[in-house]
Amino acid sequence: MKDIEVFSLFAKTPAQIADILGLEKKFQGKQVYCWLVKGAQSFDEMTNLSLPLRSTLSSKHPSPFSSKVVSSQTDASGAAKLAIQLHDGGIIECVLLTDKEGDLTACLSSQVGCAMGCRFCRTGTLRFKRNLADYEIIEQFAHLCHIAEKPITHVVFMGMGEPLANIDNVVSAVSFLHDPEGYNLSHRRITISTCGLVPGILDLSNRKVPVKLAVSLVTANDEKRSFLMPVNRSFNLAQLRNALVRFQKVSGRRFTLEYCMIHDMNISASDADDLKRFCNGLEVVVNLIPFNPCNELEFETPTSEEIKSFTSALDKRNIPYTIRISRGRSIKGACGQLAGKLQEEA
Ligand code: SF4
Repeated sequence: MKDIEVFSLFAKTPAQIADILGLEKKFQGKQVYCWLVKGAQSFDEMTNLSLPLRSTLSSKHPSPFSSKVVSSQTDASGAAKLAIQLHDGGIIECVLLTDKEGDLTACLSSQVGCAMGCRFCRTGTLRFKRNLADYEIIEQFAHLCHIAEKPITHVVFMGMGEPLANIDNVVSAVSFLHDPEGYNLSHRRITISTCGLVPGILDLSNRKVPVKLAVSLVTANDEKRSFLMPVNRSFNLAQLRNALVRFQKVSGRRFTLEYCMIHDMNISASDADDLKRFCNGLEVVVNLIPFNPCNELEFETPTSEEIKSFTSALDKRNIPYTIRISRGRSIKGACGQLAGKLQEEA
C-alpha cells in the first residue's frame, strides 16, 4: 500500500493538515495541529472548531490516526508497553518509561521487525517487514502521550528496528518532535540508538541533527561481536570506532556505549581490557544493561557476582560507566517480545 493512500494527520505541518482535510480557512490547520499535540484523539475533542465542521470531519475520518493500540501492559513501576497495529496489520511496540526523578521517556520503534539479527534481541528473531513512515513514529509518541499522566520529556529510538536504516523517516519524525510550536522536545532529550551501522552514523553526522547518539556495543571483541551482532561482519570495531571519532568531531558530543551484560559471554576481565582499548581517546560513557531473559533467546542474565566483578574491572581501568536497571525493565526487556507474541498469534 502506498503511503499516499493512508490517512494520518501526524507528522504533517498545519498547512498540510489544512490541505488534507480541505479546510477553507488555513488557520484551522494550525488549530487541528495544536489539538493533536495536546493529545486529542478525535475531531469531537477539538472544541475551537465549529460544531458543523467537527461533525463533517468526524463522519469522514473516525480517527486522525492510521494505527491503533491493540494491547497494553503496565508493570509495578508504572512503566507501560503498548502494542500498536498499523494500517497494514503489522504490529510494533513502544514503551513509556519513568526514571527515578519521575521524568517520562518514550521508547519508540523505527521499523516493523528488524533485519540486523542481533542474537540477544527478540526483535532480531522477527522477520524484517518494512520501515515505519514518519507519521507512524509520531503516532507511537501520541499514543504514549495519551496514557501518560504528565508530559513526556525524553525520546529514545530503542524500540523495534535499526533507526539509522530508516534515517530519512526518523530524522523527519525528530523534526516534528522538536518543533517549538508542537511537541517542543529539545534535541538533547532525543537519543538515537544504533547497533553500529557505520554508513548511518556518518550520514547522521553529515546531517548535523543535534540529537544524542547511543551505540549498542555489547562487546569490544570482534570475534564475539560478529557472533552476537551480524552487523559487525560488515562494519567491524575499527570501522565503527572511526565513524564514532568522526561523529564526535562534528557534533562535539560525548556519546553512550550500550553494553548488554550477558552471563558467561562478555563480562570477564579480558572483556574489560577490550573495552578499555576501544574507549581510549573517545569521550564516552558506558551504559551497562543486564540482559533480560526471554524464552526465545539462548542467553542468561548475569549473576550479581559477575556484575560486581565486571564493574570493579571497569573501575580499575578507569572506564566511566552507569548501570541501567531501570524502572520498566521487566516489560521493556528484550524488545519485540510483546509484538512478537501478537504476530505469532495472528
Ligand atoms: S538490538 Fe536493535 S538492531 Fe539489533 S536486532 Fe534488536 S532491534 Fe534490531
